[in-house]
Amino acid sequence: MEIAVFSSKKYDTKYLRPAIEAKGHQPHFLQSRLDDETLQLAEGYAAICIFVNDSLTARGIESLSKKGLKYVLLRSAGYNNVDLDAADKFGVKVARVPAYSPYSVAEFAVGLILMLNRNLHKAYNRVRAGNFSLEGLTGFDMRNRRIGIIGTGKIGLLTGKICRGFDSDVVCYDPYPNVDGAKEYGMRYVSLDELLETSDIISLHCPLLPSTHHMINSETLGRMKDGVMLINTSRGGLIDTVALIKALKNGKVGQVGMDVYEHEGNMYFEDSSDSILLDDVFSRLLTFHNVCITGHQAFLTREALENIAQETANNLDDFIKG
Ligand code: NAD
Repeated sequence: MEIAVFSSKKYDTKYLRPAIEAKGHQPHFLQSRLDDETLQLAEGYAAICIFVNDSLTARGIESLSKKGLKYVLLRSAGYNNVDLDAADKFGVKVARVPAYSPYSVAEFAVGLILMLNRNLHKAYNRVRAGNFSLEGLTGFDMRNRRIGIIGTGKIGLLTGKICRGFDSDVVCYDPYPNVDGAKEYGMRYVSLDELLETSDIISLHCPLLPSTHHMINSETLGRMKDGVMLINTSRGGLIDTVALIKALKNGKVGQVGMDVYEHEGNMYFEDSSDSILLDDVFSRLLTFHNVCITGHQAFLTREALENIAQETANNLDDFIKG
Protein backbone atom coordinates (compact mmCIF):
# COMPACT_ATOMS: atom_id res chain seq x y z
CA MET A 1 0.00 0.00 0.00
CA GLU A 2 1.13 3.57 -0.72
CA ILE A 3 1.06 5.81 2.32
CA ALA A 4 1.32 9.61 2.43
CA VAL A 5 3.65 10.69 5.23
CA PHE A 6 3.31 14.36 6.11
CA SER A 7 6.80 15.27 7.25
CA SER A 8 9.83 17.14 6.06
CA LYS A 9 11.99 15.89 8.92
CA LYS A 10 15.13 13.95 8.09
CA TYR A 11 14.69 11.84 11.20
CA ASP A 12 11.29 10.65 9.98
CA THR A 13 12.81 9.56 6.68
CA LYS A 14 15.60 7.82 8.59
CA TYR A 15 13.41 5.84 11.01
CA LEU A 16 9.99 5.63 9.38
CA ARG A 17 10.94 4.73 5.82
CA PRO A 18 12.70 1.43 6.65
CA ALA A 19 10.02 0.44 9.20
CA ILE A 20 7.17 0.93 6.69
CA GLU A 21 9.11 -0.59 3.79
CA ALA A 22 9.95 -3.66 5.90
CA LYS A 23 6.19 -4.31 6.06
CA GLY A 24 6.00 -4.18 2.26
CA HIS A 25 4.45 -0.69 1.93
CA GLN A 26 5.66 2.44 0.11
CA PRO A 27 5.87 5.68 2.08
CA HIS A 28 5.66 8.93 0.11
CA PHE A 29 7.13 11.76 2.17
CA LEU A 30 5.21 14.98 1.48
CA GLN A 31 7.20 18.03 2.53
CA SER A 32 4.20 19.77 4.01
CA ARG A 33 1.89 20.13 6.93
CA LEU A 34 -1.61 18.69 6.59
CA ASP A 35 -4.49 21.05 7.21
CA ASP A 36 -7.62 22.18 5.40
CA GLU A 37 -5.47 24.16 2.93
CA THR A 38 -3.28 21.21 1.91
CA LEU A 39 -5.88 18.44 1.81
CA GLN A 40 -5.38 17.90 -1.92
CA LEU A 41 -1.92 16.46 -1.21
CA ALA A 42 -3.57 13.51 0.56
CA GLU A 43 -6.20 12.84 -2.06
CA GLY A 44 -6.19 9.30 -3.40
CA TYR A 45 -4.20 7.80 -0.53
CA ALA A 46 -5.90 5.08 1.54
CA ALA A 47 -3.48 5.74 4.41
CA ILE A 48 -1.92 8.93 5.69
CA CYS A 49 0.61 9.39 8.45
CA ILE A 50 0.57 12.67 10.42
CA PHE A 51 2.05 14.34 13.51
CA VAL A 52 0.95 16.80 16.17
CA ASN A 53 1.37 19.92 14.04
CA ASP A 54 -0.94 18.51 11.35
CA SER A 55 -4.65 19.01 11.66
CA LEU A 56 -7.42 16.80 10.36
CA THR A 57 -10.76 18.53 10.79
CA ALA A 58 -14.25 17.13 10.18
CA ARG A 59 -14.18 18.85 6.80
CA GLY A 60 -10.83 17.24 5.98
CA ILE A 61 -11.97 13.78 6.98
CA GLU A 62 -15.22 14.03 5.03
CA SER A 63 -13.43 15.27 1.94
CA LEU A 64 -10.57 12.74 2.05
CA SER A 65 -12.83 9.79 2.90
CA LYS A 66 -14.66 10.51 -0.37
CA LYS A 67 -11.28 10.29 -2.15
CA GLY A 68 -10.36 6.90 -0.65
CA LEU A 69 -8.95 7.65 2.82
CA LYS A 70 -9.34 4.67 5.17
CA TYR A 71 -6.55 4.91 7.73
CA VAL A 72 -4.95 7.74 9.70
CA LEU A 73 -1.72 6.88 11.45
CA LEU A 74 -0.72 9.35 14.14
CA ARG A 75 2.97 9.34 14.99
CA SER A 76 2.06 10.79 18.41
CA ALA A 77 0.43 9.88 21.69
CA GLY A 78 -1.86 12.95 21.68
CA TYR A 79 -4.82 12.92 19.27
CA ASN A 80 -6.51 16.28 19.86
CA ASN A 81 -5.58 17.37 16.29
CA VAL A 82 -7.91 14.82 14.65
CA ASP A 83 -11.71 15.05 14.71
CA LEU A 84 -12.41 11.54 16.00
CA ASP A 85 -16.20 11.91 15.78
CA ALA A 86 -15.91 12.71 12.08
CA ALA A 87 -13.50 9.80 11.58
CA ASP A 88 -16.06 7.50 13.19
CA LYS A 89 -18.87 8.94 11.09
CA PHE A 90 -17.01 8.51 7.80
CA GLY A 91 -15.53 5.10 8.64
CA VAL A 92 -11.93 6.29 8.82
CA LYS A 93 -9.83 4.31 11.30
CA VAL A 94 -7.36 6.24 13.45
CA ALA A 95 -4.38 4.77 15.32
CA ARG A 96 -1.83 6.50 17.53
CA VAL A 97 1.35 5.50 19.34
CA PRO A 98 0.35 5.80 22.98
CA ALA A 99 3.59 4.88 24.77
CA TYR A 100 6.63 5.15 22.52
CA SER A 101 8.88 6.43 25.29
CA PRO A 102 7.46 8.15 28.35
CA TYR A 103 11.08 8.46 29.55
CA SER A 104 11.92 10.85 26.71
CA VAL A 105 9.24 13.36 27.78
CA ALA A 106 9.67 12.90 31.55
CA GLU A 107 13.45 13.41 31.30
CA PHE A 108 12.87 16.50 29.17
CA ALA A 109 10.41 17.97 31.68
CA VAL A 110 12.97 17.51 34.46
CA GLY A 111 15.63 18.97 32.16
CA LEU A 112 13.54 22.13 31.80
CA ILE A 113 13.13 22.33 35.58
CA LEU A 114 16.89 22.08 36.18
CA MET A 115 17.74 24.47 33.38
CA LEU A 116 15.38 27.14 34.70
CA ASN A 117 16.24 26.60 38.35
CA ARG A 118 20.00 26.83 37.77
CA ASN A 119 19.68 29.47 35.02
CA LEU A 120 21.67 27.35 32.60
CA HIS A 121 20.12 29.15 29.62
CA LYS A 122 21.37 32.49 30.91
CA ALA A 123 24.78 31.12 31.91
CA TYR A 124 25.27 29.53 28.49
CA ASN A 125 24.63 32.79 26.67
CA ARG A 126 26.76 34.81 29.10
CA VAL A 127 29.81 32.59 28.84
CA ARG A 128 29.60 32.52 25.05
CA ALA A 129 29.71 36.33 25.20
CA GLY A 130 32.82 36.16 27.44
CA ASN A 131 30.86 37.12 30.57
CA PHE A 132 31.56 34.87 33.57
CA SER A 133 29.48 36.87 36.07
CA LEU A 134 27.32 34.80 38.42
CA GLU A 135 25.03 37.73 39.18
CA GLY A 136 21.37 36.70 39.08
CA LEU A 137 22.12 33.00 38.56
CA THR A 138 21.30 31.74 42.10
CA GLY A 139 19.08 28.67 42.05
CA PHE A 140 17.67 26.48 44.80
CA ASP A 141 18.27 22.90 45.93
CA MET A 142 15.60 20.53 44.66
CA ARG A 143 15.64 18.70 47.98
CA ASN A 144 12.42 19.34 49.93
CA ARG A 145 11.02 21.61 47.21
CA ARG A 146 7.44 20.71 46.40
CA ILE A 147 6.80 19.56 42.85
CA GLY A 148 3.14 19.34 41.77
CA ILE A 149 2.43 16.86 38.99
CA ILE A 150 -0.92 17.36 37.22
CA GLY A 151 -1.82 14.12 35.44
CA THR A 152 -0.29 10.88 36.67
CA GLY A 153 -0.33 8.80 33.51
CA LYS A 154 2.83 7.30 32.08
CA ILE A 155 4.80 10.55 31.75
CA GLY A 156 3.55 12.29 34.90
CA LEU A 157 4.43 9.33 37.12
CA LEU A 158 7.93 9.05 35.65
CA THR A 159 8.50 12.79 36.05
CA GLY A 160 7.54 12.49 39.71
CA LYS A 161 9.76 9.45 40.14
CA ILE A 162 12.80 11.31 38.77
CA CYS A 163 12.08 14.30 41.03
CA ARG A 164 11.86 11.98 44.04
CA GLY A 165 15.46 11.08 43.18
CA PHE A 166 16.33 14.66 44.12
CA ASP A 167 14.53 14.16 47.46
CA SER A 168 11.87 16.61 46.33
CA ASP A 169 8.43 16.47 47.92
CA VAL A 170 6.27 15.29 45.02
CA VAL A 171 2.50 15.77 45.18
CA CYS A 172 0.12 14.94 42.38
CA TYR A 173 -3.43 15.32 41.13
CA ASP A 174 -5.42 13.22 38.68
CA PRO A 175 -9.19 12.69 38.50
CA TYR A 176 -8.36 9.00 37.94
CA PRO A 177 -5.63 8.38 40.52
CA ASN A 178 -3.13 5.55 40.13
CA VAL A 179 -2.75 5.05 43.87
CA ASP A 180 -0.39 2.07 43.65
CA GLY A 181 1.83 3.68 41.01
CA ALA A 182 2.11 6.93 42.95
CA LYS A 183 2.88 5.07 46.16
CA GLU A 184 5.56 2.99 44.48
CA TYR A 185 7.29 6.17 43.28
CA GLY A 186 6.94 7.98 46.60
CA MET A 187 4.38 10.54 45.44
CA ARG A 188 1.11 11.39 47.13
CA TYR A 189 -2.22 12.61 45.82
CA VAL A 190 -3.61 15.92 47.01
CA SER A 191 -6.55 18.00 45.79
CA LEU A 192 -5.95 20.21 42.75
CA ASP A 193 -6.44 23.23 45.02
CA GLU A 194 -3.73 22.08 47.43
CA LEU A 195 -1.37 21.29 44.57
CA LEU A 196 -1.86 24.71 42.98
CA GLU A 197 -1.55 26.59 46.27
CA THR A 198 1.49 24.82 47.75
CA SER A 199 3.77 23.72 44.88
CA ASP A 200 7.06 25.47 44.07
CA ILE A 201 7.08 23.85 40.65
CA ILE A 202 4.01 22.69 38.71
CA SER A 203 4.42 20.31 35.78
CA LEU A 204 1.52 19.52 33.42
CA HIS A 205 1.08 15.95 32.17
CA CYS A 206 -2.60 15.62 31.30
CA PRO A 207 -4.17 15.51 27.84
CA LEU A 208 -5.83 18.45 26.13
CA LEU A 209 -9.57 17.84 26.36
CA PRO A 210 -12.52 20.25 26.41
CA SER A 211 -12.41 19.85 30.22
CA THR A 212 -8.67 20.65 30.50
CA HIS A 213 -8.54 23.49 27.94
CA HIS A 214 -7.11 26.57 29.73
CA MET A 215 -7.01 24.75 33.08
CA ILE A 216 -4.15 27.15 33.82
CA ASN A 217 -5.93 30.51 33.61
CA SER A 218 -6.00 33.80 35.53
CA GLU A 219 -7.98 32.20 38.36
CA THR A 220 -5.77 29.11 38.82
CA LEU A 221 -2.60 31.18 38.29
CA GLY A 222 -3.82 33.55 41.01
CA ARG A 223 -3.93 30.68 43.51
CA MET A 224 -0.33 29.59 42.90
CA LYS A 225 2.62 30.54 45.09
CA ASP A 226 4.34 33.78 44.16
CA GLY A 227 7.27 33.03 41.85
CA VAL A 228 6.04 29.51 40.97
CA MET A 229 7.80 27.65 38.15
CA LEU A 230 5.46 26.25 35.48
CA ILE A 231 6.43 23.43 33.13
CA ASN A 232 4.32 22.34 30.16
CA THR A 233 5.41 19.42 28.00
CA SER A 234 1.82 18.24 27.38
CA ARG A 235 -0.26 20.45 25.12
CA GLY A 236 -0.25 24.22 24.71
CA GLY A 237 -4.01 24.59 25.04
CA LEU A 238 -3.81 23.64 28.73
CA ILE A 239 -2.56 27.18 29.43
CA ASP A 240 -4.31 30.46 28.68
CA THR A 241 -1.24 32.17 27.25
CA VAL A 242 -2.60 35.70 27.62
CA ALA A 243 -3.24 35.08 31.34
CA LEU A 244 0.26 33.57 31.64
CA ILE A 245 1.86 36.66 30.12
CA LYS A 246 0.05 38.83 32.69
CA ALA A 247 1.24 36.55 35.50
CA LEU A 248 4.81 36.75 34.20
CA LYS A 249 4.60 40.53 34.02
CA ASN A 250 3.37 40.92 37.60
CA GLY A 251 5.84 38.33 38.94
CA LYS A 252 3.23 35.80 40.04
CA VAL A 253 4.92 33.24 37.81
CA GLY A 254 8.68 33.19 38.25
CA GLN A 255 9.79 30.86 35.47
CA VAL A 256 8.19 28.96 32.63
CA GLY A 257 9.44 26.00 30.63
CA MET A 258 7.30 25.20 27.60
CA ASP A 259 7.80 22.57 24.96
CA VAL A 260 4.28 23.10 23.64
CA TYR A 261 2.15 26.21 23.07
CA GLU A 262 -1.26 27.29 21.95
CA HIS A 263 -1.94 27.40 18.20
CA GLU A 264 1.15 25.29 17.66
CA GLY A 265 -0.06 24.09 14.30
CA ASN A 266 -0.02 27.69 13.04
CA MET A 267 3.61 28.04 14.03
CA TYR A 268 5.11 25.89 11.42
CA PHE A 269 8.51 25.31 12.90
CA GLU A 270 10.70 24.02 10.15
CA ASP A 271 14.34 23.28 9.62
CA SER A 272 14.78 26.50 7.69
CA SER A 273 14.31 29.71 9.65
CA ASP A 274 12.41 31.48 6.88
CA SER A 275 9.42 29.21 7.35
CA ILE A 276 8.87 30.11 10.99
CA LEU A 277 5.51 31.76 11.50
CA LEU A 278 4.81 33.11 14.97
CA ASP A 279 1.69 34.72 16.28
CA ASP A 280 1.72 37.93 18.34
CA VAL A 281 1.02 36.31 21.71
CA PHE A 282 3.82 33.82 21.24
CA SER A 283 6.24 36.55 20.22
CA ARG A 284 5.38 38.36 23.48
CA LEU A 285 6.33 35.21 25.42
CA LEU A 286 9.72 35.16 23.75
CA THR A 287 10.53 38.58 25.25
CA PHE A 288 10.70 37.11 28.79
CA HIS A 289 14.15 35.88 29.82
CA ASN A 290 12.63 33.66 32.49
CA VAL A 291 10.72 31.71 29.85
CA CYS A 292 12.38 28.80 28.04
CA ILE A 293 10.61 27.57 24.96
CA THR A 294 11.47 24.57 22.85
CA GLY A 295 9.79 23.49 19.63
CA HIS A 296 7.87 20.38 20.72
CA GLN A 297 10.98 18.25 21.01
CA ALA A 298 10.40 16.46 24.34
CA PHE A 299 9.70 13.18 22.51
CA LEU A 300 12.83 13.44 20.39
CA THR A 301 15.18 10.64 21.40
CA ARG A 302 16.55 7.83 19.25
CA GLU A 303 14.61 5.30 21.32
CA ALA A 304 11.33 7.18 20.89
CA LEU A 305 11.84 7.60 17.13
CA GLU A 306 12.55 3.89 16.73
CA ASN A 307 9.45 2.99 18.72
CA ILE A 308 7.26 5.51 16.87
CA ALA A 309 8.42 4.15 13.49
CA GLN A 310 7.92 0.52 14.51
CA GLU A 311 4.53 1.09 16.12
CA THR A 312 3.30 3.17 13.16
CA ALA A 313 4.28 0.39 10.75
CA ASN A 314 2.60 -2.19 13.03
CA ASN A 315 -0.56 -0.06 13.20
CA LEU A 316 -0.71 0.09 9.40
CA ASP A 317 -0.26 -3.66 9.22
CA ASP A 318 -2.96 -4.25 11.83
CA PHE A 319 -5.40 -2.05 9.91
CA ILE A 320 -4.78 -3.91 6.67
CA LYS A 321 -5.06 -7.32 8.32
CA GLY A 322 -8.30 -6.11 9.96
P1 NAD B 1 -1.52 9.24 29.74
O1 NAD B 1 -2.79 9.04 28.98
O2 NAD B 1 -0.73 8.04 30.15
O3 NAD B 1 -1.82 10.10 31.07
C1 NAD B 1 -2.62 11.24 31.08
C2 NAD B 1 -3.18 11.37 32.49
O4 NAD B 1 -3.87 12.61 32.59
C3 NAD B 1 -4.19 10.26 32.84
O5 NAD B 1 -3.80 9.61 34.05
C4 NAD B 1 -5.49 11.01 33.02
O6 NAD B 1 -6.34 10.44 34.01
C5 NAD B 1 -4.98 12.38 33.44
N1 NAD B 1 -5.97 13.43 33.33
C6 NAD B 1 -7.06 13.51 32.54
N2 NAD B 1 -7.75 14.65 32.81
C7 NAD B 1 -7.08 15.27 33.82
C8 NAD B 1 -7.30 16.48 34.54
N3 NAD B 1 -8.35 17.25 34.31
N4 NAD B 1 -6.41 16.81 35.51
C9 NAD B 1 -5.35 16.03 35.77
N5 NAD B 1 -5.09 14.86 35.11
C10 NAD B 1 -5.94 14.51 34.15
O7 NAD B 1 -0.65 10.22 28.85
P2 NAD B 1 0.93 10.38 28.85
O8 NAD B 1 1.52 9.41 27.88
O9 NAD B 1 1.44 10.43 30.23
O10 NAD B 1 1.07 11.82 28.15
C11 NAD B 1 0.68 13.00 28.82
C12 NAD B 1 0.59 14.12 27.80
O11 NAD B 1 1.89 14.41 27.29
C13 NAD B 1 -0.24 13.72 26.56
O12 NAD B 1 -1.51 14.24 26.69
C14 NAD B 1 0.47 14.31 25.39
O13 NAD B 1 -0.32 15.35 24.85
C15 NAD B 1 1.77 14.88 25.96
N6 NAD B 1 2.94 14.45 25.20
C16 NAD B 1 3.82 15.40 24.80
C17 NAD B 1 4.96 15.04 24.10
C18 NAD B 1 5.99 16.06 23.66
O14 NAD B 1 6.85 15.76 22.82
N7 NAD B 1 5.97 17.28 24.20
C19 NAD B 1 5.19 13.70 23.80
C20 NAD B 1 4.26 12.75 24.24
C21 NAD B 1 3.14 13.12 24.94
